[in-house]
Amino acid sequence: MTFPPTPHHIWPSRWFDRAACASQPRDLFFPQSRTHERRSTPVALDVCGQCPVRDACLSHALATPERFGIWGGTTAAQRGWDKYGRPQRNPYGRIP
Ligand code: SF4
Repeated sequence: MTFPPTPHHIWPSRWFDRAACASQPRDLFFPQSRTHERRSTPVALDVCGQCPVRDACLSHALATPERFGIWGGTTAAQRGWDKYGRPQRNPYGRIP
């Protein structure tokens, strides 16, 4: 199955030119079901772990803010968003 490119792929950004996820499928970083999310999240985080622009990506995700998907080696929950893209009431585990 082929997915359209992620916003990661089409945004004009110098840092994203070196992103480790540039050749990865979109649904790896934006899973469409909870079942898929459980399988894909560890794989996506492994890709982020090898990414040379991880810090820039995380800074972007926090500043924008990006409410969904994997960015900068973090899940949306770790960035403080619930599954609907709302702020978490209990941000336990949230990154500072
Ligand atoms: S940190 Fe992860 S989501 Fe961000 S550009 Fe790198 S591989 Fe992609």
